[in-house]
Amino acid sequence: MRKQSKNKPARLFKVRWELCVGCGLCAQSCPKDAISFLWGKAEIDQNRCVHCGLCMRVCPRGAIVEKVVISPKALEKEVQSLQRQVEAILGRLDKLTGVK
Ligand code: SF4
Ligand code: SF4
Repeated sequence: MRKQSKNKPARLFKVRWELCVGCGLCAQSCPKDAISFLWGKAEIDQNRCVHCGLCMRVCPRGAIVEKVVISPKALEKEVQSLQRQVEAILGRLDKLTGVK
């Protein structure tokens, strides 16, 4: 798998095997030749995948999904940042409306 920055969410494209019918459209569209077949079902090589999303767009069965993986620490930082932004907005609203 390609390296991602510590706090950046990792994006993964996965095949839902129960939906895949093995038509091969995803493999044909992949610019990195990252899709192979096992028992007639598509499989994505995460070492080759560059997360372009083409396979997901062409799949007629909606069998390819994007997953975003975020570490608990990064998630906590994100929540704290959002809280600060909300507090700043509420502070500005209070000033505008004259609420103390
Ligand atoms: S395009 Fe979709 S249904 Fe066809 S092989 Fe790929 S994942 Fe399976
Ligand atoms: S996201 Fe792009 S690079 Fe990755 S498997 Fe799909 S088509 Fe290939």
